[in-house]
Amino acid sequence: MKAILCQGCGVEIQTENPDKPGFVPGAALKSDTVICKRCFRLKHYNEVQDVSYQDDDFLKMVSQIRNTKGLIIKLIDIFDFNGSFIKSLPRLTGDNPIVLVGNKVDLLPRSANLNKLKHWLKESAKEYGVKTEAVFLISAVTGNGMDELETSIEQLREGRDIYVVGSTNVGKSTFINQLINKTTGIENAITTSYFPGTTLGFIEIPMDKSSSLFDTPGVINRNQMAHYVSKQDLKIITPKKEIKPVVFQLNEGQTLFFGGLARLDFIKGEHQSFVCYFSNALKIHRTKIENADELYKRQVGSLLSPPNEETLQDFPALRSSTHKVSSEKTDVVFPGLGWVTISTSGATINAHSPVGVSISLRKSLI
Ligand code: GDP
Repeated sequence: MKAILCQGCGVEIQTENPDKPGFVPGAALKSDTVICKRCFRLKHYNEVQDVSYQDDDFLKMVSQIRNTKGLIIKLIDIFDFNGSFIKSLPRLTGDNPIVLVGNKVDLLPRSANLNKLKHWLKESAKEYGVKTEAVFLISAVTGNGMDELETSIEQLREGRDIYVVGSTNVGKSTFINQLINKTTGIENAITTSYFPGTTLGFIEIPMDKSSSLFDTPGVINRNQMAHYVSKQDLKIITPKKEIKPVVFQLNEGQTLFFGGLARLDFIKGEHQSFVCYFSNALKIHRTKIENADELYKRQVGSLLSPPNEETLQDFPALRSSTHKVSSEKTDVVFPGLGWVTISTSGATINAHSPVGVSISLRKSLI
Protein backbone atom coordinates (compact mmCIF):
# COMPACT_ATOMS: atom_id res chain seq x y z
CA MET A 1 0.00 0.00 0.00
CA LYS A 2 1.28 3.48 -0.88
CA ALA A 3 2.16 5.55 2.18
CA ILE A 4 -0.26 8.37 3.00
CA LEU A 5 1.45 11.61 4.03
CA CYS A 6 0.09 14.23 6.39
CA GLN A 7 -1.05 17.32 4.48
CA GLY A 8 0.14 19.52 7.33
CA CYS A 9 3.67 18.34 8.04
CA GLY A 10 4.48 15.61 5.53
CA VAL A 11 5.02 12.82 8.06
CA GLU A 12 3.89 9.30 7.08
CA ILE A 13 0.41 8.62 8.42
CA GLN A 14 -0.08 5.62 10.74
CA THR A 15 -3.04 4.38 12.76
CA GLU A 16 -1.31 2.12 15.29
CA ASN A 17 0.47 4.22 17.88
CA PRO A 18 -1.02 7.51 19.19
CA ASP A 19 2.33 8.53 20.74
CA LYS A 20 4.35 8.19 17.54
CA PRO A 21 4.50 10.76 14.71
CA GLY A 22 1.77 10.63 12.06
CA PHE A 23 -1.02 9.08 14.10
CA VAL A 24 -4.64 9.39 12.99
CA PRO A 25 -7.64 7.40 14.21
CA GLY A 26 -8.62 4.87 11.53
CA ALA A 27 -11.87 6.68 10.66
CA ALA A 28 -9.96 9.84 9.70
CA LEU A 29 -8.39 8.00 6.75
CA LYS A 30 -11.67 8.26 4.87
CA SER A 31 -11.33 12.05 4.62
CA ASP A 32 -9.94 13.57 1.39
CA THR A 33 -7.22 15.49 3.18
CA VAL A 34 -5.61 13.53 5.97
CA ILE A 35 -3.73 15.47 8.63
CA CYS A 36 -2.02 13.81 11.59
CA LYS A 37 -3.28 14.20 15.14
CA ARG A 38 -0.45 16.57 15.94
CA CYS A 39 -1.23 18.95 13.06
CA PHE A 40 -4.95 18.62 13.76
CA ARG A 41 -4.53 19.78 17.35
CA LEU A 42 -2.16 22.49 16.29
CA LYS A 43 -4.53 23.81 13.68
CA HIS A 44 -7.71 23.71 15.72
CA TYR A 45 -6.50 24.27 19.27
CA ASN A 46 -3.05 25.85 18.73
CA GLU A 47 -1.71 23.07 20.91
CA VAL A 48 1.38 21.03 20.15
CA GLN A 49 1.88 17.35 20.87
CA ASP A 50 5.40 16.15 21.42
CA VAL A 51 6.70 13.37 19.24
CA SER A 52 10.13 11.85 19.44
CA TYR A 53 12.53 12.59 16.59
CA GLN A 54 16.29 12.33 16.90
CA ASP A 55 18.56 15.06 15.52
CA ASP A 56 20.30 12.51 13.30
CA ASP A 57 17.03 11.54 11.62
CA PHE A 58 16.43 15.15 10.69
CA LEU A 59 19.92 15.59 9.31
CA LYS A 60 19.72 12.38 7.31
CA MET A 61 16.46 13.52 5.75
CA VAL A 62 17.70 17.00 4.92
CA SER A 63 20.96 15.74 3.41
CA GLN A 64 18.97 14.20 0.54
CA ILE A 65 19.23 17.69 -0.99
CA ARG A 66 22.91 17.04 -1.75
CA ASN A 67 21.92 14.72 -4.57
CA THR A 68 19.52 17.12 -6.23
CA LYS A 69 19.80 20.33 -8.27
CA GLY A 70 18.03 23.33 -6.84
CA LEU A 71 18.21 26.69 -5.11
CA ILE A 72 18.59 26.54 -1.35
CA ILE A 73 16.75 29.12 0.72
CA LYS A 74 18.39 29.11 4.12
CA LEU A 75 16.11 30.79 6.59
CA ILE A 76 17.42 32.09 9.91
CA ASP A 77 15.95 33.98 12.83
CA ILE A 78 17.75 37.34 13.06
CA PHE A 79 17.32 37.18 16.84
CA ASP A 80 19.14 33.90 16.97
CA PHE A 81 21.84 33.62 14.32
CA ASN A 82 23.95 31.17 16.36
CA GLY A 83 20.94 29.15 17.38
CA SER A 84 19.32 29.01 13.97
CA PHE A 85 22.28 28.66 11.64
CA ILE A 86 22.88 25.09 10.49
CA LYS A 87 26.64 24.67 10.64
CA SER A 88 26.63 21.49 8.59
CA LEU A 89 24.79 23.27 5.76
CA PRO A 90 27.37 22.77 2.97
CA ARG A 91 27.54 19.08 3.85
CA LEU A 92 23.75 18.84 3.67
CA THR A 93 23.19 20.82 0.51
CA GLY A 94 26.22 20.01 -1.67
CA ASP A 95 27.10 22.50 -4.43
CA ASN A 96 23.65 24.03 -4.71
CA PRO A 97 23.59 27.86 -4.49
CA ILE A 98 22.41 29.28 -1.16
CA VAL A 99 20.34 32.40 -0.50
CA LEU A 100 20.47 33.47 3.13
CA VAL A 101 17.21 34.93 4.42
CA GLY A 102 17.02 36.62 7.82
CA ASN A 103 13.46 36.49 9.13
CA LYS A 104 11.47 38.47 11.76
CA VAL A 105 12.74 41.89 10.69
CA ASP A 106 9.42 43.39 11.88
CA LEU A 107 10.64 42.94 15.45
CA LEU A 108 13.70 45.15 15.08
CA PRO A 109 13.56 48.67 16.41
CA ARG A 110 13.02 51.17 13.59
CA SER A 111 16.45 52.66 14.18
CA ALA A 112 18.24 49.38 13.32
CA ASN A 113 20.54 49.63 10.32
CA LEU A 114 19.48 46.80 8.01
CA ASN A 115 22.58 47.03 5.84
CA LYS A 116 24.79 46.49 8.87
CA LEU A 117 22.66 43.50 9.82
CA LYS A 118 22.91 42.02 6.32
CA HIS A 119 26.65 42.49 6.37
CA TRP A 120 26.92 40.81 9.77
CA LEU A 121 24.81 37.86 8.57
CA LYS A 122 26.92 37.41 5.44
CA GLU A 123 30.19 37.59 7.36
CA SER A 124 28.94 35.26 10.10
CA ALA A 125 27.89 32.71 7.46
CA LYS A 126 31.32 33.02 5.87
CA GLU A 127 32.96 32.31 9.23
CA TYR A 128 31.08 29.01 9.24
CA GLY A 129 32.39 28.29 5.73
CA VAL A 130 29.08 28.98 3.98
CA LYS A 131 29.18 31.05 0.79
CA THR A 132 25.91 32.83 0.06
CA GLU A 133 24.66 34.12 -3.31
CA ALA A 134 22.65 36.88 -1.66
CA VAL A 135 21.31 37.96 1.73
CA PHE A 136 17.77 39.21 2.30
CA LEU A 137 15.92 40.47 5.33
CA ILE A 138 12.22 39.78 5.52
CA SER A 139 9.24 39.47 7.76
CA ALA A 140 7.31 36.36 6.91
CA VAL A 141 4.46 37.67 9.05
CA THR A 142 4.05 41.18 7.60
CA GLY A 143 5.37 40.32 4.13
CA ASN A 144 8.04 43.02 4.39
CA GLY A 145 10.88 42.32 1.93
CA MET A 146 9.04 39.41 0.33
CA ASP A 147 8.54 41.01 -3.11
CA GLU A 148 12.23 41.69 -3.55
CA LEU A 149 13.11 38.20 -2.35
CA GLU A 150 10.57 36.55 -4.60
CA THR A 151 11.94 38.35 -7.68
CA SER A 152 15.46 37.33 -6.78
CA ILE A 153 14.46 33.71 -6.17
CA GLU A 154 12.90 33.53 -9.63
CA GLN A 155 16.10 34.89 -11.21
CA LEU A 156 18.49 32.71 -9.25
CA ARG A 157 16.66 29.42 -9.51
CA GLU A 158 16.59 29.41 -13.34
CA GLY A 159 13.58 27.11 -13.37
CA ARG A 160 15.05 24.68 -10.81
CA ASP A 161 13.38 23.45 -7.62
CA ILE A 162 13.54 25.39 -4.37
CA TYR A 163 14.53 23.80 -1.08
CA VAL A 164 13.71 25.76 2.04
CA VAL A 165 15.90 24.76 4.97
CA GLY A 166 16.03 26.13 8.48
CA SER A 167 16.27 25.23 12.12
CA THR A 168 13.05 24.75 14.00
CA ASN A 169 11.15 27.89 14.94
CA VAL A 170 12.80 30.32 12.49
CA GLY A 171 9.43 30.91 10.80
CA LYS A 172 9.86 28.48 7.94
CA SER A 173 6.21 27.46 7.75
CA THR A 174 5.07 31.08 7.92
CA PHE A 175 7.54 32.00 5.18
CA ILE A 176 6.47 29.19 2.86
CA ASN A 177 2.81 30.01 3.41
CA GLN A 178 3.56 33.61 2.37
CA LEU A 179 5.59 32.63 -0.67
CA ILE A 180 3.06 30.07 -1.86
CA ASN A 181 0.22 32.48 -1.27
CA LYS A 182 2.01 35.08 -3.41
CA THR A 183 2.82 32.70 -6.24
CA THR A 184 -0.25 30.43 -6.31
CA GLY A 185 -2.90 32.19 -4.22
CA ILE A 186 -3.24 29.15 -1.93
CA GLU A 187 -3.61 30.12 1.72
CA ASN A 188 -2.06 28.36 4.71
CA ALA A 189 -0.27 25.68 2.71
CA ILE A 190 1.47 24.65 5.90
CA THR A 191 0.39 24.85 9.53
CA THR A 192 2.29 27.23 11.84
CA SER A 193 3.10 27.03 15.51
CA TYR A 194 5.04 28.41 18.46
CA PHE A 195 6.91 25.25 19.21
CA PRO A 196 10.00 23.84 17.43
CA GLY A 197 9.75 20.78 15.26
CA THR A 198 6.42 21.17 13.57
CA THR A 199 7.48 20.34 10.05
CA LEU A 200 8.50 16.72 10.12
CA GLY A 201 9.01 15.62 6.53
CA PHE A 202 9.72 16.96 3.02
CA ILE A 203 6.58 18.53 1.64
CA GLU A 204 6.45 19.13 -2.10
CA ILE A 205 4.49 22.16 -3.23
CA PRO A 206 4.31 22.62 -7.02
CA MET A 207 5.46 26.07 -8.20
CA ASP A 208 4.73 25.58 -11.89
CA LYS A 209 4.52 22.70 -14.38
CA SER A 210 8.15 21.66 -14.08
CA SER A 211 9.36 22.70 -10.63
CA SER A 212 8.42 22.57 -6.96
CA LEU A 213 9.21 24.09 -3.63
CA PHE A 214 10.27 21.58 -0.98
CA ASP A 215 9.75 22.28 2.67
CA THR A 216 12.40 20.31 4.56
CA PRO A 217 12.26 19.20 8.21
CA GLY A 218 13.30 21.81 10.77
CA VAL A 219 16.81 20.88 11.83
CA ILE A 220 17.21 20.91 15.58
CA ASN A 221 20.12 23.02 16.70
CA ARG A 222 21.16 22.46 20.29
CA ASN A 223 22.45 26.05 20.56
CA GLN A 224 18.89 27.27 20.33
CA MET A 225 17.46 28.83 23.48
CA ALA A 226 14.09 27.38 22.44
CA HIS A 227 15.35 23.93 23.46
CA TYR A 228 16.02 25.01 27.01
CA VAL A 229 12.71 26.65 27.80
CA SER A 230 9.14 25.43 28.00
CA LYS A 231 6.41 26.24 25.51
CA GLN A 232 4.99 28.89 27.88
CA ASP A 233 8.38 30.49 28.42
CA LEU A 234 9.02 30.50 24.68
CA LYS A 235 5.98 32.70 24.30
CA ILE A 236 7.43 35.18 26.76
CA ILE A 237 10.92 35.39 25.27
CA THR A 238 9.73 35.52 21.65
CA PRO A 239 9.04 39.16 20.85
CA LYS A 240 5.62 39.72 19.37
CA LYS A 241 6.04 43.27 18.17
CA GLU A 242 8.72 45.83 17.55
CA ILE A 243 11.21 45.73 20.39
CA LYS A 244 11.39 48.80 22.60
CA PRO A 245 14.90 49.29 23.91
CA VAL A 246 15.30 49.67 27.69
CA VAL A 247 18.26 51.72 28.89
CA PHE A 248 20.18 51.12 32.11
CA GLN A 249 22.89 53.48 33.37
CA LEU A 250 25.37 51.18 35.07
CA ASN A 251 28.47 51.52 37.20
CA GLU A 252 31.07 48.81 37.27
CA GLY A 253 30.13 46.16 39.80
CA GLN A 254 26.49 46.09 38.66
CA THR A 255 24.69 43.30 36.87
CA LEU A 256 21.52 42.77 34.84
CA PHE A 257 19.37 39.64 34.88
CA PHE A 258 17.20 38.88 31.84
CA GLY A 259 14.46 36.96 33.59
CA GLY A 260 16.36 33.97 34.96
CA LEU A 261 17.63 33.00 31.51
CA ALA A 262 20.74 35.12 31.13
CA ARG A 263 22.83 37.71 32.95
CA LEU A 264 25.35 40.44 32.14
CA ASP A 265 27.93 41.61 34.69
CA PHE A 266 29.63 44.96 34.20
CA ILE A 267 33.02 44.04 35.66
CA LYS A 268 35.10 47.06 34.74
CA GLY A 269 34.78 50.32 32.83
CA GLU A 270 33.44 53.86 33.06
CA HIS A 271 29.82 54.64 34.02
CA GLN A 272 27.74 54.24 30.85
CA SER A 273 24.48 53.21 29.29
CA PHE A 274 23.59 49.60 28.54
CA VAL A 275 20.78 49.53 25.98
CA CYS A 276 18.79 46.29 26.16
CA TYR A 277 16.86 44.88 23.18
CA PHE A 278 14.68 42.00 24.35
CA SER A 279 11.08 40.87 24.15
CA ASN A 280 9.01 43.53 25.88
CA ALA A 281 7.55 40.76 28.08
CA LEU A 282 10.94 39.69 29.48
CA LYS A 283 11.66 41.39 32.83
CA ILE A 284 15.12 42.85 33.40
CA HIS A 285 16.38 43.07 36.96
CA ARG A 286 19.36 45.12 38.11
CA THR A 287 21.50 44.28 41.13
CA LYS A 288 25.11 44.32 42.37
CA ILE A 289 27.45 41.61 41.14
CA GLU A 290 28.37 40.73 44.73
CA ASN A 291 24.71 39.86 45.44
CA ALA A 292 23.93 38.27 42.09
CA ASP A 293 24.78 34.59 42.75
CA GLU A 294 22.84 34.56 45.99
CA LEU A 295 19.86 36.36 44.41
CA TYR A 296 19.81 33.90 41.54
CA LYS A 297 19.87 30.94 43.90
CA ARG A 298 16.95 32.33 45.90
CA GLN A 299 14.87 33.93 43.19
CA VAL A 300 15.28 31.99 39.96
CA GLY A 301 11.81 30.74 39.02
CA SER A 302 10.04 33.54 40.93
CA LEU A 303 11.43 37.11 40.78
CA LEU A 304 13.84 36.02 38.06
CA SER A 305 11.55 34.32 35.60
CA PRO A 306 11.19 32.65 33.09
CA PRO A 307 11.97 29.84 33.81
CA ASN A 308 9.09 29.36 36.23
CA GLU A 309 9.11 27.00 39.22
CA GLU A 310 8.05 24.09 37.10
CA THR A 311 10.21 24.66 34.03
CA LEU A 312 13.22 25.43 36.23
CA GLN A 313 13.70 21.71 36.80
CA ASP A 314 14.77 21.16 33.21
CA PHE A 315 16.65 24.42 32.83
CA PRO A 316 20.45 24.11 32.60
CA ALA A 317 22.85 26.06 34.81
CA LEU A 318 24.15 29.40 33.53
CA ARG A 319 27.79 29.50 32.37
CA SER A 320 29.72 32.71 32.04
CA SER A 321 32.26 33.97 29.54
CA THR A 322 34.38 37.10 29.90
CA HIS A 323 34.64 39.65 27.08
CA LYS A 324 36.60 42.83 26.66
CA VAL A 325 34.65 45.29 24.54
CA SER A 326 37.24 46.66 22.13
CA SER A 327 35.23 49.10 20.02
CA GLU A 328 32.58 51.75 20.59
CA LYS A 329 28.96 50.66 20.30
CA THR A 330 29.20 46.91 20.55
CA ASP A 331 26.28 44.49 20.78
CA VAL A 332 26.56 41.59 23.21
CA VAL A 333 24.29 39.03 21.58
CA PHE A 334 22.35 36.52 23.70
CA PRO A 335 21.17 34.02 21.06
CA GLY A 336 17.44 33.50 21.07
CA LEU A 337 16.80 36.34 23.50
CA GLY A 338 18.15 39.63 22.21
CA TRP A 339 21.17 41.83 22.75
CA VAL A 340 22.70 44.63 24.82
CA THR A 341 24.49 47.57 23.21
CA ILE A 342 27.46 48.86 25.16
CA SER A 343 28.38 52.41 24.21
CA THR A 344 32.06 52.87 24.99
CA SER A 345 35.10 50.73 24.35
CA GLY A 346 37.30 49.30 27.06
CA ALA A 347 34.55 47.76 29.22
CA THR A 348 35.00 44.25 30.60
CA ILE A 349 31.87 42.18 30.96
CA ASN A 350 30.86 38.70 32.02
CA ALA A 351 27.98 37.27 30.02
CA HIS A 352 26.03 34.32 31.45
CA SER A 353 23.84 32.03 29.35
CA PRO A 354 22.61 28.43 29.61
CA VAL A 355 25.31 25.84 28.88
CA GLY A 356 25.35 25.32 25.11
CA VAL A 357 23.97 28.76 24.18
CA SER A 358 27.04 30.78 23.28
CA ILE A 359 27.36 34.56 23.48
CA SER A 360 28.84 36.62 20.65
CA LEU A 361 29.89 40.24 20.11
CA ARG A 362 29.24 42.32 17.01
CA LYS A 363 29.30 45.93 15.84
CA SER A 364 26.11 47.64 17.00
CA LEU A 365 23.18 47.51 14.58
CA ILE A 366 21.83 50.82 15.84
P1 GDP B 1 9.01 26.92 11.82
O1 GDP B 1 9.15 26.03 13.02
O2 GDP B 1 10.34 27.37 11.33
O3 GDP B 1 8.15 26.38 10.74
O4 GDP B 1 8.35 28.29 12.35
P2 GDP B 1 6.86 28.85 12.30
O5 GDP B 1 6.52 29.35 10.94
O6 GDP B 1 5.95 27.87 12.94
O7 GDP B 1 7.07 30.13 13.22
C1 GDP B 1 7.60 30.03 14.53
C2 GDP B 1 7.15 31.23 15.34
O8 GDP B 1 7.74 32.42 14.82
C3 GDP B 1 5.63 31.46 15.28
O9 GDP B 1 5.23 31.91 16.53
C4 GDP B 1 5.48 32.56 14.22
O10 GDP B 1 4.33 33.35 14.41
C5 GDP B 1 6.74 33.37 14.47
N1 GDP B 1 7.18 34.06 13.24
C6 GDP B 1 7.45 33.52 12.05
N2 GDP B 1 7.83 34.46 11.15
C7 GDP B 1 7.80 35.63 11.82
C8 GDP B 1 8.07 37.01 11.46
O11 GDP B 1 8.43 37.36 10.34
N3 GDP B 1 7.91 37.93 12.45
C9 GDP B 1 7.51 37.60 13.70
N4 GDP B 1 7.35 38.58 14.57
N5 GDP B 1 7.25 36.34 14.07
C10 GDP B 1 7.39 35.38 13.16
